[in-house]
Amino acid sequence: MFSRVQARLPAIYQLSRTYASAAYKKKSKIAKYTVVGIATGSALGAAYHLSKDDEVIYTAEGAHLTVPEQAFKPKLGGYKNLPVVSHFLDDSIHEENTKPRLVVIGSGWGAVSVLEQLEKDDYNVTLISENNYFLFTPLLPSATVGTLEMRSLLEPIRKITDRVKAHFLQVSAKDVDFESKLVEVTDPSTGKDFYVPYDKLVIAVGATSMTHGVEGLENTYQLKTIQDAIKIRRQVLENLEVAALPTTPPEERKRLLSFVVCGGGPTGVEFAAELFDTLNEDLVRWFPKVLREEVSVTIIQSRDHILNTFDTSISAYAEKKFDRERIKIVTNARVQKIDENSVQYTVKNAGDPSNPETVQLPYGFCLWSTGISMTPFARNISEKLEAQKHQRALVTDGTLKLKGIPDGSVYAIGDCATIENPKLLSHIMEICEAADKNKDGSLTFEEFVEAGQYMCRRFPLATNHLSKMSELFKKYDIDNSGTLEIDELRVLLTDLDKKTTNLPATAQVANQQGKYLGKSISRIAKASRQGVSEDQVVQPFAYHHLGSLAYLGNTAVGEFNWGYKMVGGLWALYLWRSVYWSEQVSLRTRLNLSIDWTKGAIWGRDLSAI
Ligand code: FAD
Ligand code: MG
Repeated sequence: MFSRVQARLPAIYQLSRTYASAAYKKKSKIAKYTVVGIATGSALGAAYHLSKDDEVIYTAEGAHLTVPEQAFKPKLGGYKNLPVVSHFLDDSIHEENTKPRLVVIGSGWGAVSVLEQLEKDDYNVTLISENNYFLFTPLLPSATVGTLEMRSLLEPIRKITDRVKAHFLQVSAKDVDFESKLVEVTDPSTGKDFYVPYDKLVIAVGATSMTHGVEGLENTYQLKTIQDAIKIRRQVLENLEVAALPTTPPEERKRLLSFVVCGGGPTGVEFAAELFDTLNEDLVRWFPKVLREEVSVTIIQSRDHILNTFDTSISAYAEKKFDRERIKIVTNARVQKIDENSVQYTVKNAGDPSNPETVQLPYGFCLWSTGISMTPFARNISEKLEAQKHQRALVTDGTLKLKGIPDGSVYAIGDCATIENPKLLSHIMEICEAADKNKDGSLTFEEFVEAGQYMCRRFPLATNHLSKMSELFKKYDIDNSGTLEIDELRVLLTDLDKKTTNLPATAQVANQQGKYLGKSISRIAKASRQGVSEDQVVQPFAYHHLGSLAYLGNTAVGEFNWGYKMVGGLWALYLWRSVYWSEQVSLRTRLNLSIDWTKGAIWGRDLSAI
């Protein structure tokens, strides 16, 4: 097994000697020890790796002999008579896999969290995704200007699927035949379709950008994928280089250096902040200084404030900071049209609100970041099912099962899904009936606690507002009778309806849903082996908001679930970095981030446009 290592040992030894003798010649002790240290470390590292290589190569010998015949030649089947991929190239004839088939579509936050929590041997798992990597989206704005390198945000999906021995197929899901339980997928390299069978299916396909029906979006850039970040980085640098040419007319230079961001949510704001850092830290240093004077960054926001999902003190801080730095924020504005070289928007006219002012803003680069919408695949599923009427996402019940699938075999999580959020008030009789044990038309405190538990099970989005039951009881027992009458309950449910909102489309939600689902479908597998019913082992999903963070250019803002609000300061930047550093899925990406931040601090950003 160590033959390859042994064969290379003399070469490794020779290499270390050459370096060591070079150091001796220089007669520097530090250099000598450093070189000897590095050489020994490299030799040991190389020996270790070669021995590992040997082991792996050994296990692959004769692998083709153990692959089942059907993996090479899938049988045809299903409604469209396409190949049905029931066996895979990593299956073995020595182990007939009789476990239920779990298919997960997507390799983002939701899907990866499911895989992380699944028990190892419960399912025969297949992961389908268009990309063979997981992308750490919260740091994507930093990759658009080279603060972080692209590959520092990616983790190969095969390294994640390995724990549960999941098969991975880099294909695009096109449709689902719910009756025959087949996912129809397309191989992008050949355009050919085939089926992947499932017993349980998890849809975690994320979302695309919302267009709001605006004309000319093909002239803009979006920021959702790593390819988007690559294109943006190239274009920003391209603009700076063209602006630096003496032959570029002054008007054109000004246009090239006009950066416009449509959308004042966290993504738009963080991109603007990263861009601004680059202009201040790298443009001034390495480009002709006159460029800096011509630069403009504008954020166009439809609401009153940027970062409007954050606390008002945080958005006020962000606006003040941007104002000081001359990042222009246009609020209460609607983009109408985007031409090749200019954005047309209307803005509320303070003097005459019924007569908005139209503005034409020339740009050299425009980012479109104004919310999310369903992917073509999710929309296809939604249109197929009678029970799906929501415009923005696939609707699930409280245990994340897709509405409209009677056997409950399909789940949807993350940005592509939303938990049904019916009005509690319209269920008042049902709630009363479930809790009013003595049927006297009013609820004692014990009955009220029962009603609370029933509501948490049936309407999980209300859970966060039903934690302090004795306080609620006291508050809504308006006549102090010691029981809640129907009118009092009506007031309570009306107030709860006002507070209960859909969950935001964030990595935090997708991650918690994925973890919950991974655990609960493992529990279901165990229960079915023991003959226990699913309802006994699965509780509805409950979301615990940990807080929100946003990068603001060498500082950050955030709010945390214990009530603390972080507004600015250099330490906030380090806290922001530490949070995302600790959230990484591997030690490798953590190391990459640390190296990128260190390189940036010493040498600035890499300004090569490739
Ligand atoms: P995604 O992570 O988008 O994953 C979807 C996966 O499905 C992808 O792998 C995709 O390739 C695959 N896929 C799509 N369609 C198909 C198909 N038809 N067939 C096969 N595979 C398919 N959230 C936060 O909480 N904090 C932040 O700071 C934050 N910052 C963000 C910054 C940016 C720039 C962006 C774009 C998003 C940010 N978000 C943040 C939001 C967060 O990224 C999303 O909410 C999260 O990614 C949703 O997870 P998901 O699993 O639903 O979808
Ligand atoms: Mg009362």
